Amino acid sequence: MNKALFLDRDGTLILDKVYLADPAGVELIPGTADALRLARSLGYQLFLFTNQSGIGRGYHTLDATLRVNARMEQLLGLGSPLFVGVCIAPEAPGLPMAYRKPSPRFILEQIAAHNLDPAQSWMVGDSATDIGAGLAAKVNVAAVCTGNIDPRTLPDVAAHSIPVYPSVAEFVATLKS
Ligand SMILES: [Mg+2]
Repeated sequence: MNKALFLDRDGTLILDKVYLADPAGVELIPGTADALRLARSLGYQLFLFTNQSGIGRGYHTLDATLRVNARMEQLLGLGSPLFVGVCIAPEAPGLPMAYRKPSPRFILEQIAAHNLDPAQSWMVGDSATDIGAGLAAKVNVAAVCTGNIDPRTLPDVAAHSIPVYPSVAEFVATLKS
């Protein structure tokens, strides 16, 4: 079976600027490129899983999000496509949800499509919705402190003993091949 990292974008890989629509605003969180290179070399397939309610709210377009993602890939410098799969969930909260985290739907679909082992796969993010999606998908979950809140304040982190790392770099450093 294969193993994977499901990675949140804003506050996990790049600075969370809230409804970021301008590629010029993309700033990598330090250490992210090296961390993703290491994870890939350890055999982890990389998936990007990002809630973008700014699309559903009409603040920006899906095209803008795609340009932001492309700029992030360019700055990471690890080749393109970097991610085996990308999920941009466009729903605004309160509207019917298909893929918006904490829905585990994207993770579950990718587990089935790529023969992923949930026991060797992780959801990594900075917010309650990331943690909820990982828990619902029954993969491992890690929280990072590079977003706009302290994940140690989240009820699910304490309730489920979710490990908290300063950034994705420290998390990936704990992985083995
Ligand atoms: Mg986030």
